[in-house]
Amino acid sequence: MPSIKKYASIVGQSVIDELYFLAERLEGKVIQNINSTAVGGGVAEILTRMVPILKQLGVDARWDVIKGNEKFFSITKKFHNALHGVNIPINSEDFDYFLQVNHDNATEIDFCGDVVFVHDPQPIALIDKRDEVGKKWIWRCHIDFTEPQTDVITFLESYIDKYDAAVFSAPAFSRELRVPQVLVSPSIDPLSDKNKELPPEKINAVLKQFGISRRRPIVTQISRFDYLKDPLGVIEVYKRVKKYIDCQLVLAGGGATDDPEGLKVLEEVKAAAIDDPDIYVLYLPPSSDITINALQRASTVILQKSLKEGFGLTVAEALWKEKPVIASSVGGISLQIAHKYSGILTYSIEGTAYYLKQLLQDPEYARRLSFNGKAHIKNNFLITRHIRDYLLLFLSLYHGHDIVHL
Ligand code: UDP
Repeated sequence: MPSIKKYASIVGQSVIDELYFLAERLEGKVIQNINSTAVGGGVAEILTRMVPILKQLGVDARWDVIKGNEKFFSITKKFHNALHGVNIPINSEDFDYFLQVNHDNATEIDFCGDVVFVHDPQPIALIDKRDEVGKKWIWRCHIDFTEPQTDVITFLESYIDKYDAAVFSAPAFSRELRVPQVLVSPSIDPLSDKNKELPPEKINAVLKQFGISRRRPIVTQISRFDYLKDPLGVIEVYKRVKKYIDCQLVLAGGGATDDPEGLKVLEEVKAAAIDDPDIYVLYLPPSSDITINALQRASTVILQKSLKEGFGLTVAEALWKEKPVIASSVGGISLQIAHKYSGILTYSIEGTAYYLKQLLQDPEYARRLSFNGKAHIKNNFLITRHIRDYLLLFLSLYHGHDIVHL
């Protein structure tokens, strides 16, 4: 983990000084994060970087992961899909089992936090322990909440309303709630293995490992194998463009311990790619950060064709590397891309194919987009801004009705 001081060379010393100033005011307070997986997906990605930096700033930040079996995670994956607008039947047994696992975890976890910071729906019902343990409780939602299925959102809201505050990633996800809502967008860490500069030899070595050529354009989507990331749609886009431009497609990603659907999606993607040696379907193990970094840096264009997206860290990661990005205009992605300025936003396979062809044929236009994209990420979506928002949020819990500007 790099020293917090190193971030000054990217964001300026005054930003770092302010973080120390705010962190000092939290002295003696334990911030306890709780989520459902230590690896895989955006939440784990953020906490892996956030917790050590908070510690460096002098904040006593901790991180616990709830335990769940396959049945629990298949139910929470149904919740996840239903919250993203996929029509899925969820019965009362599912809700009961979900609560049972939450209550089992609640008896095992040591609620040592002065602020208990619960991430996403999987551990949301831990709040039932509140009367016993007291403390301040925040629920942080990383999900695209634009069209949630009614039964699941109603169920969740009965828990959200018991927290002190709810945090969402984008204005479009805010709800009618009884508790204050705070908007904090996620971020990337520019100094992590995932995002730091890499020497060209390292990038070449990763491409060689997978047999990908640097002589022809590389189009990439990095994502967990999940229907909502639409990997089959990406293959369709590529096939349309391939008729005109001799490019290669890389679909790379691993799984997450709280996502049981990944292998099924992977098999479907492999089947769709089987006849084309220029499609590379790479199932990556956890801790493939340097590999992902190299694949993103080697890419000519990066796609993120999600059907729903809470934020889409992969978009920020690509833009930070000054890559032209074409992404669906869904959820938090539209915070990151201003269409035709800092990237391209699309709504369909046809639209994505149209712009992919254009960017591959017009490198100067692609370069302008990616230049603006990097500046936008630097100004808005680096981890230092995210930490500042969280520190202010934690402090606001102890300041009654004071106005806190985030
Ligand atoms: N990621 C990874 N390995 C993979 C696939 C994804 O490390 O095999 C990372 C990716 O680089 C990004 C995060 O996991 O940092 C995914 O976050 P995002 O918000 O894009 O999507 P989520 O998986 O949370 O839906």
